[in-house]
Amino acid sequence: MASPLEENILEKDFRILTSLGSGGFGEVKLACHLPTHTQVAVKVLEKKKISLAHINTEVEILQSVEHRNIVHFFHVIDTSTITYLIMEYVSGKDLDVFLQERDFLEEDEARPIFQQVVSGVHFLHQKRIAHRDIKLENILIDRAGNVKLCDFGMARQLAEGQMLEKVCGTLLYLAPEILARKPYDGLVGDMWSLGVLLYVLVTGEFPYTGPTLEHMYKAITTTKYPIFCYMSKPFLIIIEQLLMIPTWDRITICQLQERQWLGNIKEHAAPATKKILPRVVRTMCTMGYTCEDIVSSLKHKQPNNLMATFNILKYKLSCGDSQQQSQKPWLNGSPIGAVRPLLTLKRRASEPAFPPSTGDVKRHFHEEAVEGRGRRCQSYKMLNRYSRLKKSPVQM
Ligand code: ADP
Repeated sequence: MASPLEENILEKDFRILTSLGSGGFGEVKLACHLPTHTQVAVKVLEKKKISLAHINTEVEILQSVEHRNIVHFFHVIDTSTITYLIMEYVSGKDLDVFLQERDFLEEDEARPIFQQVVSGVHFLHQKRIAHRDIKLENILIDRAGNVKLCDFGMARQLAEGQMLEKVCGTLLYLAPEILARKPYDGLVGDMWSLGVLLYVLVTGEFPYTGPTLEHMYKAITTTKYPIFCYMSKPFLIIIEQLLMIPTWDRITICQLQERQWLGNIKEHAAPATKKILPRVVRTMCTMGYTCEDIVSSLKHKQPNNLMATFNILKYKLSCGDSQQQSQKPWLNGSPIGAVRPLLTLKRRASEPAFPPSTGDVKRHFHEEAVEGRGRRCQSYKMLNRYSRLKKSPVQM
């Protein structure tokens, strides 16, 4: 634990309210940033439990990205024992919790969620950042349906052509080349994870399961994921292209964005910083800061209390915190928080099946179609029973 003196550094400007969740690497707490009355999420990274390299990577990468579908970085407080990573609070739930309440999503419901994940990952891949742990638990969704990617503990900034060797990620989402412990391209590995994610959203089941790297690898290389009669042809195509074993045949994030199933993805607009900065400075001056202090902190990139206030105000003024973001109705007019009764989502057995075309897709469609009608209702609860142990991140 941090010494009482060091704890004061956090407590001076932040009041911890409650716990938001914890993963493999740290607890995330809800806190209030007192000077701006803003709710923030504070990830508590204990140095005795996590390597310094891991902490630094998470902080540096999150700090270097600014995108509406990626949790926004505000500040870091570093003590001798703990690093507090202060970021935007997403007032909703992660997709794992969300899916447990719904079992599965219709394709039309999964699309706006997946579009936003793809937009965030596209932004990362353009910067050659591999997330390496894309999964339900690392995707947050607020009540308005805004989606944010979080947890950059395993992310890597890659040089052109750089291959990685360390097996890391979450077992059920790991690409076959990573399971085989071959040198791998982190960006290509992310594409496989996106395929798993999309498949789980729409079916409530993982495409491949297994208790170890070896079992998972065998399942992927010797069997094919179940194909169900309710899957549309464009959906099947996209899954096929993401869950492609040869890495050279797997689609890239740019190609994925072009796919028919995905529809139009909202373009990313960089925040209009020039317009916002004078407003931030004016607001801070009314709070008692001097222009000189602000300029000096900005110039020297000092991670002090002033910078925390600056970053939070800048974010609030540029697009608003997630509560203030566009409250657009979606999911067929119902906001995502308003969970529709499960029964209305269950597909009727009499519903017409997707008419298959040719090739592999067709063969699998026929093999699995009958089974598919019953299996979907086995639901996410089955998935949870099976996979609780395999959903935590691994690093080898
Ligand atoms: P770990 O690296 O230990 O796995 P995560 O960063 O994944 O930790 O966070 C753990 C959980 O905390 C998430 O699954 C989510 O429920 C919650 N959480 C994380 N970041 C935020 C945030 N910015 N806003 C709201 N909840 C969050």
